[in-house]
Amino acid sequence: MNYISTRNNMEPVSAAEAIARGMVPNGGLFVPEAIPALDAAEIAAMAGKSYQELAQWILGKYLTDYTAEDIADCVAGAYNINFDTPEIAPLVKLNDNEYILELWHGPTAAFKDMALQLTPRLLVKAIEKLDLQQEVIILVATSGDTGKAALEGFKNVKGTRIIVFYPAHGVSKVQELQMVTTDGDNTYVVGVEGNFDDCQSAVKEIFADRALEAVMAEHGYQFSSANSINWGRLLPQIVYYFAAYLNLVHQGAVAYGTPVDFVVPTGNFGNILAAWYAGQMGLPVGKLVCASNKNQVLADFFASGVYDRRRDFYQTNSPSMDILISSNLERFLFAMTGNDGDKVALWMDQLKNEGIFTVDADTKANIDKFIVGGAADEVETLSMIAACYDESKYVLDTHTAVAVKVSREYREASGTANIAVIDSTAHPCKFVSSVLSAFDGVDKKESELEMLEQLVSLTGISQHKGLQDLDKKPVLHTTVCEKDEISAAVQRILGI
Ligand SMILES: *Cc1c(COP(=O)(O)O)cnc(C)c1O
Repeated sequence: MNYISTRNNMEPVSAAEAIARGMVPNGGLFVPEAIPALDAAEIAAMAGKSYQELAQWILGKYLTDYTAEDIADCVAGAYNINFDTPEIAPLVKLNDNEYILELWHGPTAAFKDMALQLTPRLLVKAIEKLDLQQEVIILVATSGDTGKAALEGFKNVKGTRIIVFYPAHGVSKVQELQMVTTDGDNTYVVGVEGNFDDCQSAVKEIFADRALEAVMAEHGYQFSSANSINWGRLLPQIVYYFAAYLNLVHQGAVAYGTPVDFVVPTGNFGNILAAWYAGQMGLPVGKLVCASNKNQVLADFFASGVYDRRRDFYQTNSPSMDILISSNLERFLFAMTGNDGDKVALWMDQLKNEGIFTVDADTKANIDKFIVGGAADEVETLSMIAACYDESKYVLDTHTAVAVKVSREYREASGTANIAVIDSTAHPCKFVSSVLSAFDGVDKKESELEMLEQLVSLTGISQHKGLQDLDKKPVLHTTVCEKDEISAAVQRILGI
């Protein structure tokens, strides 16, 4: 299977090349030229299989230039005891209508591990296949969670170096400590005086900088990306939608074929897009509910067909969703226009230059078949955490709380009878300060690290092992730069 550009500006490439490059050199994202269609019998027969077996099966459909052994190797290296449960992505029942898909059992306590434990392995195989002699430089822009997950995934991976940029004042203390204490001889972490969109835009510009690419090549380097613009990052995420659905079938909660809605707390649109791919492959997916926080550019887009990023940017208590430019929407728009790369290129230009674009009526009607959007503000988020704990003694993190709130609003408005599977994208301790604020009468401790213990003793949840002893680890990364110095910082790190 080959991969094509969402902007109609590149010849098709193999999966290995799409993964090694990260994104299309002149702008645009790689997508599979056709989505593998599975029949009901094949999917239903996978009920009861392990997560690793599901991953091998799904990856094999897309990575046709990888051998079965390559894929088995990558999967075995990614999903093992570095997750704190053999289920990898357990499904927890809140009530008859709502299930929580816990995606944070990997090493860094956020759902990014689901992909990023695998992406580096896929990339290393891609480098071997293409016989690339160059060292691959992974550039990451992070709103907090991707950074640590990518660092953990890539640290000490031969033939790669990883450089992470995060908004210096836009991540939680726990997130920052997780990143700046990362060891490994190929890891670099830089705080940026700006927000996530500043980091992401700068990284995208570096990828598109032809002159820099030439200099890099002379020095034996090439860039790639661990952000969800890389197909190797998106693909692993398709697996857990199959796992969740088949889990419901296996435990008798639904008969095979009954549609299930997936509710996804959304930022860059990678996670929810993976659910859409699962549906296109044949999984009985009902509605996809796209949940935004106060930065509700997507909720507004799904309501109106107008994507307008010309608005205030808010730092909220669900910071991993504080995004106004949702990169993976481009892949979805490409599909919704019937693969009209010229149209997508035009919209992306308009977004870049004018900050706004409007999709045509046909595209909008297509989108509406699959997705409904909604948003929750910070107060609603905290109320949801408190309400859910009261009802079920289950502690939501802030991102997941946004999703539960939007899910309930959607259920009420639509009257749907479908079961909702709500993605839980972070362990509550990762955003401990905000989560604690949801509980009445708690006198929060000064430091986030003390708050971790406070939340654990208040609610009885178990601490995530990736968040233990953060204060005892040495800080190894202290660099901070201005938002217009990101390219310079990369060049300095690489000595070019
Ligand atoms: C990254 C992240 C999200 C957003 O996921 P996208 O794939 O970017 O839409 C939501 N919640 C948490 C905790 C995250 O780390």
